[in-house]
Amino acid sequence: MRAIVSINSGSSSIKFAVYRLDEHDTPTLSANGKIERIGIEPRLKIQTVDKQIIHQMDWSDGATLSHADLLEYLFDWAKGHLRDTQIVAFGHRVVHGGNDFVAPCCVDDAVLAELEKLCPLAPLHQPHNLAAIRIIAGLSPDIPQIACFDTAFHHDRPALTTRFAIPRALHDAGIRRYGFHGLSYEYIARRLTELDPALAGGKVITGHLGNGASLCAMDNGRSIDTTMGFTALDGLMMGTRCGTIDPGVIIHFQKQMGMQAAQVEDILYRQSGLLGVSGISSDMRTLSESSAPEAEEAIELFAWRAAREAGALASTLGGLDGFVFTAGIGENHADVRARICHRLRWLGADIDEEANARHAPIISTPGSKVKLMVIPTDEERMIALHILSLLYGAKP
Ligand code: ADP
Repeated sequence: MRAIVSINSGSSSIKFAVYRLDEHDTPTLSANGKIERIGIEPRLKIQTVDKQIIHQMDWSDGATLSHADLLEYLFDWAKGHLRDTQIVAFGHRVVHGGNDFVAPCCVDDAVLAELEKLCPLAPLHQPHNLAAIRIIAGLSPDIPQIACFDTAFHHDRPALTTRFAIPRALHDAGIRRYGFHGLSYEYIARRLTELDPALAGGKVITGHLGNGASLCAMDNGRSIDTTMGFTALDGLMMGTRCGTIDPGVIIHFQKQMGMQAAQVEDILYRQSGLLGVSGISSDMRTLSESSAPEAEEAIELFAWRAAREAGALASTLGGLDGFVFTAGIGENHADVRARICHRLRWLGADIDEEANARHAPIISTPGSKVKLMVIPTDEERMIALHILSLLYGAKP
């Protein structure tokens, strides 16, 4: 049996999914898993498609275990478990493709070197995405590895929405708005075509609200505008990232407060967002369980900022037919969804509180002008579809 493996390697977690291929190259999920809390107390869980746990491991004293150590462990386990399976390719989520990588591609040393240059633009993600590719190349040098870029879905959008109002020469040198979470948005655009073709053809904002968070304005399934920009720091407030901030604040940090660039980066990427405002946690669920007023302020700020940016994207679209919630917060946090929808009432969004509370696929009232939906994202499946497209010419 042939199989392909999708890998999403982050700073503290590695998510993966194994898809078996039948004789028509149709992928069927066979197992997926996650190694999380890397650098603290790593733990691994692998489950079948019907959620039966097939392997579990806790390294309670494993703070020093690296991504390489853990991937090696996983490969050893897979050798035993996937004995009857021939892995034909690995696909990876790579956050930044810059100007040059606008479609999935096979990774070789030259590609890796180019992608390496983009690490400063996505310091929370890119180094970990590329590390996984390098480690797997060492463990399995003969199996092709395919990079799928989070920036690619946004590449063909109107040039106007890619510009910062800075001198032309800087734009031409690549200082422009790229946009991220593209694999997630591409997957949602596909699912929407299956679930509601009429809406898929209309003007839809999708909110990928997880630890990282952004919105994408889609017209007829294509990205028109998005809240993230040159880096994944822009736009919405996130778990630990500040989102859009007056650039004058950064000048002030450096010139008046004497901060070095690394310190500014640390504040904006790792100490801000829900964590910075609450002073409690970057995790939305933890904040919801807290009675501290700072936690409430952080949640409300998150919702206001999301609704404010949604208003801006509705303006780019020239109207709004639908709003899709996805990712950890979008799929699971009814209260945050309700707060955002209440702020979008002026656009015609009318939430059905009961449907929202039970995380129904459609959470708007029948009379709502804007259809409100919850659709689980699946970046790993989107990677698998891109692998098949590249290897066998299948349509993603
Ligand atoms: P990422 O993949 O970017 O690390 P996720 O998409 O997993 O992030 O989203 C993480 C966020 O989703 C956290 O803020 C977490 O609290 C929230 N979340 C996850 N599951 C739930 C849940 N069942 N209820 C409420 N919030 C949840």
